[in-house]
Amino acid sequence: MNWQNSKVKPLGVWFSIFPETTLNLNFAEKLEKMRNCLGTWSLRRLSLIGKITVIKSLIASQIVHLLSPLPSNHQIIKEINVLFFHFLWNGKGDKIKRNVIIRDYQDGGLKMIDIISFNKALKSVWIKKYLDVNNKGKWKLFIDAELENLGGATVLSNLDKVDTKKIAKSLSPFLKEILEIWAELNYQDQITSVDSFLAQSLWHNSLIRIMGKPIYYKNWHQSGIDYVNQIIKEKPNVFLSLNEFEQMYHIKVCPLTFCGIVSAVKTLWRKQNQALTQNAEKKESLATVMLKSNKPNRLAYKILIEAKTKSPIPSQLKWYNATQDSYDFDWQKTYQIALKCTKSTKLIEFNFRFLHHTLATNTALVKMGFKNDVKCTFCNEEPEKILHLFWCCNKIQLFWKHVFAFLQQCNILSQNCVPSESAVLGLRPETSKNGNKIDLIFLVARFYIWLCRSKEKIPVVESFISYLKFYKKELEPFHIS
Ligand SMILES: [Zn+2]
Repeated sequence: MNWQNSKVKPLGVWFSIFPETTLNLNFAEKLEKMRNCLGTWSLRRLSLIGKITVIKSLIASQIVHLLSPLPSNHQIIKEINVLFFHFLWNGKGDKIKRNVIIRDYQDGGLKMIDIISFNKALKSVWIKKYLDVNNKGKWKLFIDAELENLGGATVLSNLDKVDTKKIAKSLSPFLKEILEIWAELNYQDQITSVDSFLAQSLWHNSLIRIMGKPIYYKNWHQSGIDYVNQIIKEKPNVFLSLNEFEQMYHIKVCPLTFCGIVSAVKTLWRKQNQALTQNAEKKESLATVMLKSNKPNRLAYKILIEAKTKSPIPSQLKWYNATQDSYDFDWQKTYQIALKCTKSTKLIEFNFRFLHHTLATNTALVKMGFKNDVKCTFCNEEPEKILHLFWCCNKIQLFWKHVFAFLQQCNILSQNCVPSESAVLGLRPETSKNGNKIDLIFLVARFYIWLCRSKEKIPVVESFISYLKFYKKELEPFHIS
């Protein structure tokens, strides 16, 4: 047998006696492979949705076994991210913000992978494994040894990222990273109910501080004292006296220490009790939820994405300002219309671009310097903006009028129904009986208008009706003729 001095590669992962070498060997090799693979795929004309599928199923899956067990090489993860978005937009720069496209469909995104959150989510699964008593892995002994002075799993209570960084300073880089990820996922800065106040951990909790720091008292923890309710005499906020406390737990504690803890918990109560809702249900801790979950990585990914994508989507404001219809937008519903009425990725993607105002109208093309004239392709009078092109333009108003008449004739629309601007534009779902089919017809009509624009032809209802036949199956039971 040859004894390797520097590096070995069991199970497809390089291991080296030098941690840096391990990281570089593993990731550099994969990065090169990914680059080649995406290079091949980029020769095909794939839709955004198609590309996202390629990234997720062919590429990201290849690095799962590298991301999960190794400390992160942030430089390489950054490079992977660049590679993915370069592929997605053909190297022409992002047309839609990253914090929009990574959202779930109903939140206005296309579920593009966010490799940074993906990496964190994979690593967070180690916490579940560590907490799971049924997992008897020997590796836990190493973690136990490292965390011994911190009280083992107690360190997972409720620390924020800053406090975690300070506490984890002397730990191994991998464990340190895992704890920081946990803090990002788990930390709650608000108490929502009396129950959750009473269930607060006294230890490693960024909400309970003495001299500006979270605390951990080993002898208390070893005597089984871990939670706020254990120093409370009467709910919610009458505390035990020192005497009562010592008798109850049969331990002697320093009076100053005891007063310190009580006053830290009182401070927390004072700061947050106004915000408590009376009958708020006690939220299950993330650790409990994770332990129950079969897909803890997905759960973690969802939390991370939600935290990243709280800001409103810019295109929503544009619609508010542009539309005349006084309609209360329910964006979750809006974003789901296309998905609910068709399986065509072409239509779904078109609608996505339409809703996010990224179709290259003449106004946009002039801004980008590709055209000199903003005027509408159809009427050649007004500036060509999305709302004009798909609704306000007099040529288009005529087109819609004919479409409505046709739909009434086929009994798809009722006789005296004139659809509103917001329904025609797919900003809200049609609530009438055939709503789903009507939504699809309006979507196909918008797509048809867009096709006409690229051919510089004015939309006419007859050719639209024959175009609609491509969607015959999805429009059943209606027969378009
Ligand atoms: Zn026009």
